[in-house]
Amino acid sequence: MNRLVVMKFGGTSVEDATAILRTASIVAGRVRKGSQPVVVVSAMAKVTDLLISAATTAARGDRAGALGITERLRIRHRDTAAQLASAAPAHPETDGASGQGAIAATHAWIDAEFDSLDEILRGLAAVGELTPRISDMVVSWGERLSSRMIAEAFAGAGLSAIHVDARQCIVTDAQHGRAIPQDGAIEQRLRQHVLPHLGIGLVPVMGGFIGATEQGVTTTLGRGGSDFTAALVGGGIDAGAIEIWTDVNGIMTADPRVCPDALRVKTISFEEAAELAYFGAKVLHPATILPAVKKNIPVFVLNSRNPENGGTRITALAAHCRSPFKSIAVKKRLTIMDVVASRMLLSHGYLRAIFEVFDRHQCPVDMVSTSEVSVSLSVDSNEKLPVIAADLSKLADVKYEGRKALVCMVGENIRGQNGIAARVFQAIRHVNVRMISQGASEINMSFMIEEDDAEEAVRSLHAEFFSDPDPAIFDVEAVRQNASK
Ligand code: ASP
Ligand code: MG
Repeated sequence: MNRLVVMKFGGTSVEDATAILRTASIVAGRVRKGSQPVVVVSAMAKVTDLLISAATTAARGDRAGALGITERLRIRHRDTAAQLASAAPAHPETDGASGQGAIAATHAWIDAEFDSLDEILRGLAAVGELTPRISDMVVSWGERLSSRMIAEAFAGAGLSAIHVDARQCIVTDAQHGRAIPQDGAIEQRLRQHVLPHLGIGLVPVMGGFIGATEQGVTTTLGRGGSDFTAALVGGGIDAGAIEIWTDVNGIMTADPRVCPDALRVKTISFEEAAELAYFGAKVLHPATILPAVKKNIPVFVLNSRNPENGGTRITALAAHCRSPFKSIAVKKRLTIMDVVASRMLLSHGYLRAIFEVFDRHQCPVDMVSTSEVSVSLSVDSNEKLPVIAADLSKLADVKYEGRKALVCMVGENIRGQNGIAARVFQAIRHVNVRMISQGASEINMSFMIEEDDAEEAVRSLHAEFFSDPDPAIFDVEAVRQNASK
């Protein structure tokens, strides 16, 4: 039985002392049950954004503005550390009843960290140029601070924890801002800096998101990169499971604010989760957990405010499910552009010419459908559309219309099943459907409707496809409990 588990806690799960103590008790619960956790933490909520703005403020030459931001961050970390220390039971050998000695020691290292950060910001203000390398350096403080502070808090909460600097383990190339991890080197570093601690019953705590090159230059894995770190660590130590602790109950069959009957999806495949993420299900970005999926390590999305909840399990292969779909996602604020050929009709190079216009304006296209004479494209509504339309009108007649929504239904079981599309469109027969696509992945069926019809459509589709949910896949218990209330 593999007892190794990587537990990743996002920014909201470590946003203040209360959240950190909750996190400590979740980890302690796992240890009591015999697991051997490795903990990966994000920076405290909003800290990464603030560090980025400190860096850009400094680079603009506004030294005082930048130092003002770090001063507030310093106070926030000092206050949180003090609250954590006073929540911990006192250790008579090391300090007085109130833990003053421990607080002083923690404040000393926090101050030293902020002093060196301020040093960099002063230099940045003098030089006036923010390189990606310096940007990575500055933002790394978020996870450096949170991980060390949390490791200390865990010790105070009775866990035998030890801080590990993620930069010793997560070896990357030098593409700052979105560095590529080096799997082999990471595995070797984890064997050196993490596994020995596990062997003697310690809980290693490390920051997500940050890494370093072979030469020791600090790098980052891209925004939201802590999930990626968790997957890299899990893959590198061959963990039995990876847990992504966040502030929602997992992936749902629909947005519960739109559809009160939405159910928690207990298990979903990696491919299905990836389709949903693209449509804005913000739970996690599946690309980041690929290293774990490749090794067949199950990934769980769990709620740190509701730890008893089973969350969603993401697996490499889909479990058998009697319903065709797992979830319905909606992407709003879209515009449809209809490009109707008059002059270039049937000539080759036509589509290329159209796409070149979108490319030139760096405007991603979501969905395309074509007929002999017209091409319809859907794009995020944005301020460049009038210019794009003007460019396109050199090629053809163009009209565009905003306030559209894309409804995306995802499920492995629609592969090769007959009659599913008929059921979908029967359920929303009163809605005007503008564009339809069934993705090449064969696990998603999407269509474009008016934004104002979206909520009604989701409820109708949910009633059609989730009224008799498969209890192996969906959390039907919650529904029964609600009904009996
Ligand atoms: N702190 C980083 C960010 O905000 C990484 C993460 O939280 O996953 O992007
Ligand atoms: Mg995140």
